[in-house]
Amino acid sequence: MTSLVVTGATGRMGRELLAAAADRELTVAGATSRTAETVAGVSTAAPEALGRLAREAPSPTVVVDFTAPQATTGYAETVAEAGAAFLTGTTGLSESDHASLARAGERVPVLWASNFSRGVAALRRAVTAAVDTLPGYDVEVTETHHDGKRDAPSGTAETLVETVEDARPDLSKRVHGRDGVAPRSETEIGVHARRAGDVAGEHEVLLAGDDNVVELTHRAGSRRVFAAGALDAAAWLAGRDPGVYGFEDVLDADDPAAENGGGVA
Ligand code: NAD
Repeated sequence: MTSLVVTGATGRMGRELLAAAADRELTVAGATSRTAETVAGVSTAAPEALGRLAREAPSPTVVVDFTAPQATTGYAETVAEAGAAFLTGTTGLSESDHASLARAGERVPVLWASNFSRGVAALRRAVTAAVDTLPGYDVEVTETHHDGKRDAPSGTAETLVETVEDARPDLSKRVHGRDGVAPRSETEIGVHARRAGDVAGEHEVLLAGDDNVVELTHRAGSRRVFAAGALDAAAWLAGRDPGVYGFEDVLDADDPAAENGGGVA
């Protein structure tokens, strides 16, 4: 049975993961947090204990991390040293943070995704289809999150913009909000971030042409969807070969068409 060690256990996602893990065939072997607490019946240890927890947990072990970039990069190295798998959903990572994950991925299996909701995976596929079908349309991406979110735009909005750019390489200019005299150019993708209340996460991709508007929207009803996807991905990641994987790899494994080379990259 896969054993989990959860970092940032007192955070919004840490709590959700520990609550969700209790309903799964997974052993929670430990959890870390900056303040000692008991979350979903698990006593948390200090972050410095992560290497020991990852080494001592029954194999195969996956460390599941939803914290902050400055924590995630160090944790990736610690977990690679301990020989466990590392799954992270932390967003706001820089290129050098991704390079740290890639270095860890040379030694152990690593999986990063900006969004662990299957609904958002479906949204990405729908966006690719819509952009392909509607050449020349203006595209704008808008996200809404709770007032405690630190990074903007969200990692998921960044991923959606990359999805649009892959299908429409002529859209090469990201415009983050508009202020003052700011006429739209043909090469723009507008990106807008709203912060309000306790919204778990909403993403909308708007495609507009003359007399024709398509809006593709995903709304997460709660963080449970991210926790469920992350735990599915953790079970898939346990015991894999070293490498850096994404949530699409997990979904492709569920998709019989992908086994015949029909998956979405
Ligand atoms: P949160 O602020 O509620 O929790 C963050 C946790 O990380 C806290 O326990 C905090 O103490 C800990 N932490 C922060 N900085 C740390 C440091 N330097 N060292 C050690 N611990 C540290 O945040 P959250 O809403 O749980 O989100 C956490 C991350 O996960 C964010 O980057 C968020 O964008 C991302 N997220 C991703 C997904 C996804 O599906 N990929 C879904 C939700 C949230």
